[in-house]
Amino acid sequence: MSVLVVGTVAYDTVKTPAGSRSGVLGGSAAFFSIAGSYFVPISLVAVVGDDFLDEHLRLLKSHGVDTSGLERSAGESFRWSGVYSSEDVNMRETLDTRLNVFAEFSPTLDPEHRTMPYLFLANMDPALQSSVLDQMAARPKLVALDTMNIWIDGSREALEETIKSVDLVFMDEGEARSFSRERSVVSAADRILDMGPSTVVVKRGEHGALVRRAGTAFSVPAFPLEHVVDPTGAGDSFAGGFIGYLAASGDLSDEGFRRAAILGSVIGSFTVESFSVDRLHTLTPPEIEERFRALTNLIRFEPLRDRESLPWRETTRQKSGG
Ligand code: AMP
Repeated sequence: MSVLVVGTVAYDTVKTPAGSRSGVLGGSAAFFSIAGSYFVPISLVAVVGDDFLDEHLRLLKSHGVDTSGLERSAGESFRWSGVYSSEDVNMRETLDTRLNVFAEFSPTLDPEHRTMPYLFLANMDPALQSSVLDQMAARPKLVALDTMNIWIDGSREALEETIKSVDLVFMDEGEARSFSRERSVVSAADRILDMGPSTVVVKRGEHGALVRRAGTAFSVPAFPLEHVVDPTGAGDSFAGGFIGYLAASGDLSDEGFRRAAILGSVIGSFTVESFSVDRLHTLTPPEIEERFRALTNLIRFEPLRDRESLPWRETTRQKSGG
């Protein structure tokens, strides 16, 4: 089962406590494509400028990414720069966003892209996200969307409209709170579920993520790392691992979503170990499986069996009537 992603392919300039890089490959759709490509074929729809290097096209192709939908326009590629706090590497400030060729981007999907069963609408103008969804010939099995503060603050109504027609929403914790105007993460996720999607994934950086579906919640930890080099792209890699796994397994049950979240967390944890897509690019299936097992072990605990009780102190047991 293949996945269509529409989003940015960018050149990023980042400064983190571990160092800095200028003009490195980034963009939501680039991280998502490589992350998801470990599980399923990915088709990428995006635009780049005439500054886009062949080596980066080759890199995407080396992951089997279908780049037939990657337009090349006269001008510069999307450019983003940001700096991460030295106290808290989860905190970042955007220094500059230059849409460049992305400002005029209005994708027309090819016929073969219109029938793809999984669709990821990466972070971009919600009106553009809706126009992509409207072009699909048949309703995909799963439509997921990611967004960010500029759309929550500047295009709330359009975002609400788009969210109504998707199945899965990814937001980070601050975005979910500001979008829903709720303080607790669970209430924030529930407000978004009320709007129509059947799953909401609230990403919480080094605190992992919460997957909320009707009547159930699953909390997935971030893989504990000693050394975070560059968090850029963690969220998009999380989404790539998540959707990639769902599409590969076809398991859209609660259990499938739980595993998908673990894989999102695992893949995201590799991304942050290096700048740009460097670590994501060199990953191997055994490395992913090893970290999947390690994460399972990290959260494994003995459940209470039927009728089993905790080792209460006698007086407490009487209080509970046990
Ligand atoms: P993440 O760290 O997962 O939130 O994604 C970071 C990536 O998103 C970077 O590689 C940027 O190039 C890209 N990005 C930053 N700002 C925007 C924006 N306004 N629209 C689309 N992509 C963006």
